[in-house]
Amino acid sequence: MVKITDMLLTPNPYSRPQRPIKIKGIVWHWVANPNSSAKGNRNFFENRKSGKSGYGSAHYIIDLNGSVIRCLNDNEMGYHVGSNTYTRDALNKLGSYPNGTTIGIECTHIDWDGNMTDETRKALIELTAQLAKKYDLTADNIWLHQEVVGWKDCHRFYVNNLAEFEKDKNAVAKILDGKPVSKPKPVSKDEIVLVEADRNGMYEIKNGDTLWSLSRAFDMTVEQLEKLNPKVDPKKLTVGQKIVIKKVEKKDCLHLPASEDSWRVYPLKASPVKGNECGFLNPKKFNGLKYEILDEYSQDVYVIQTEHFGKVKIYATTSIGAKFSSGSTPAPKPAPKPKPKPKPVHKHSFKKLGRAKGDVWSHSKADFSTSTRKVVVGHNARLEICCDDNGLYYTNKGWISCKYVEIIGDLDKYDLPSVTLRRGDKGGNVVRVQRALNQLYFKVGSEDGVFGARTQDALKRFQMVHDAYHVNGVYSSRVEKIMEKMLSK
Ligand SMILES: [Zn+2]
Repeated sequence: MVKITDMLLTPNPYSRPQRPIKIKGIVWHWVANPNSSAKGNRNFFENRKSGKSGYGSAHYIIDLNGSVIRCLNDNEMGYHVGSNTYTRDALNKLGSYPNGTTIGIECTHIDWDGNMTDETRKALIELTAQLAKKYDLTADNIWLHQEVVGWKDCHRFYVNNLAEFEKDKNAVAKILDGKPVSKPKPVSKDEIVLVEADRNGMYEIKNGDTLWSLSRAFDMTVEQLEKLNPKVDPKKLTVGQKIVIKKVEKKDCLHLPASEDSWRVYPLKASPVKGNECGFLNPKKFNGLKYEILDEYSQDVYVIQTEHFGKVKIYATTSIGAKFSSGSTPAPKPAPKPKPKPKPVHKHSFKKLGRAKGDVWSHSKADFSTSTRKVVVGHNARLEICCDDNGLYYTNKGWISCKYVEIIGDLDKYDLPSVTLRRGDKGGNVVRVQRALNQLYFKVGSEDGVFGARTQDALKRFQMVHDAYHVNGVYSSRVEKIMEKMLSK
């Protein structure tokens, strides 16, 4: 038996939410901090209770000397495998929110390759076997963090040495039933699934899903889900059943406005880019054109049936004048020409960037006694600061007590560069990207202006979450646009 020392975390929303779980798997992690102790890592989880460093925890941490600390009871949830993407295998076996179905074990290690001491490795095998026995699991229910989410190189040692992973899983199997485990395979990109609703706002129930796990996966409350699905019995979800995640406007028909005299269409087999077109539609000639949407090929690219060119692809968005309607509703009337908006007058120029130090009220005036409270500004919210008066800062969210604002730097430093940057690049532009990544909690460490492995890794993680089909670790206008949106939230 492995010796386990109980050092349970203080209950708190960020690392010990005290939610019950249904154990279906055991996930192996590395702590990603060479030669740190189990106790140090346990305290790192404990300190998350302040809410200042986000979510994160695991059930067990194995020290370099093979001793084990328990941070969470087995049947309560930790935040160790949350992600916007999961592998198909994990979704099928662990459900749409694997934190709700797995026990996490963190291993300390002696270098950046994730090499462990013999003691740690031995304890990992014994602890896993002990838990598997207790919860009726087999060695095939052991997962690497990467096998669950698809992208993170955790546990790095096993990710890069799958034969060792197989060997150690088999060592667990030997203690259990002796059955050899299936051979681990590297995670292929095609296996990674973004947890999202389909174009109709629906999601197909997978094995292990509950309304609660779905609410976590889609960042909503159970009540919101219940409201959207009044006829669904939460206790009787069946695999393959579809439930509503968000209400979306149905797009059945595409309308091309009479103002356009040429609109490109593309063959089904070619990508819809200039040069590939197989013809042009002429909405002007027909006083506008209307097509039934047969399929959505990708975002903003539809398949329609045309008289002249047969079935084709067409790129259409409302921003370039296209309109959409559902089958039952008539064609939308052309919108009246918008009056030119007067340019907003900026009374204040915001110079500094800050962050809210806690949940704090913003005020309508720079005077606590006469002002009314406006809105609650959430902890860590990004604040643009103009000036201070009477113990309050004037920010883009209203007047906020100086006590609750941490100044991070000059606002213009966060202007994102409009250039392409990749590994090996250096300079001020890189600093600005690093700063943005840190600000968005994709930590790059020090903002040293060197686009190295850590910056690339942080950028990839950012892309995995916000632009999962374009993960390349390269900063481009595409990344810039998404970051800008995130930073202005
Ligand atoms: Zn991990």
